[in-house]
Amino acid sequence: MRSVWVALLGIALSGCDTAVQTSQVPSRPPLARTATVGLFADAQYCDCAPEADRHYRASLWKLGAAADAFDRERVDFSVHLGDLIERDAESFAPALGALAGLDSALVHVLGNHDFDVAGDDRESVPERLGMEARYHERSKGLWRFVFMDGTDLSTFATAPGSTRRAETDVMRDSISASGGEVHLWNGGVGREQLAWLRATLDDALARGQRVVILSHFPLYPFTTHNLWNADAVLAVLDDYSNIVAHVSGHDHGGRATTRGGVYHIGIEGVVETRGQNAYAVAYFGVHALELRGVGRAASVVLPYRNGETSARRRRPGTAR
Ligand SMILES: [Zn+2]
Repeated sequence: MRSVWVALLGIALSGCDTAVQTSQVPSRPPLARTATVGLFADAQYCDCAPEADRHYRASLWKLGAAADAFDRERVDFSVHLGDLIERDAESFAPALGALAGLDSALVHVLGNHDFDVAGDDRESVPERLGMEARYHERSKGLWRFVFMDGTDLSTFATAPGSTRRAETDVMRDSISASGGEVHLWNGGVGREQLAWLRATLDDALARGQRVVILSHFPLYPFTTHNLWNADAVLAVLDDYSNIVAHVSGHDHGGRATTRGGVYHIGIEGVVETRGQNAYAVAYFGVHALELRGVGRAASVVLPYRNGETSARRRRPGTAR
């Protein structure tokens, strides 16, 4: 096992796009940490009978077990990567109740299923999740964690007649006009949020912080579950050399891939299978990020592209 992990530590980001080999949890201690974060996704809880491999009620014990593990690891905070519920606003209270014992902060990003509630309840979804803003960020020392809202432009989280619905319709028309397929279970990021992303990345750069971006919808590689305008977000990421990873949920399958020096990590969905959990603890070390998965979630060590050097802009003068 040791040789496997030495090999994984030796993976260098060469700028080409490649899948990253994952492995089972090793027996050695985790890397020396500068930040520790609990990660899980797609609990999709509801008091509903199972459908195919989705065991909605079992998500309650899985969330509780993940919370206990995150506390044991003394994480700085935990992130549920969207779709906490399958449907119905009444599902929020039991799901959040299963996580109430967490010793540290619980952070949410918005997923499409979180809006599968009665029309009158949609406006209050972020508030029910304790979110002060639909997209937000937080720092931990030399780390900047950026939480994006992929439901920003969507058919399920925008009100008819609103400015965001109008921008949604323009984006849908644009995708269709270019021959693309618009999948209504996904969403997009609006102009205002993209500008906020750039401003946040510029600020992180000025502070010498490394960045991790977290959102519900994957950006890369292309699948039918990706953010509508993943290309626009990837174009922003291409302008910065201090971005370590984008972490997502939504497709339940999990992945670790690199593109342009950024790891694209998918966390396996909690709701899949009756008896097996899926969560990971991310240890942000000095030289590498180590993900330790439990149950269906994979484990991997991901070296930073710039070693220990401080953050720098990839293309000078591209901030706007
Ligand atoms: Zn989803």
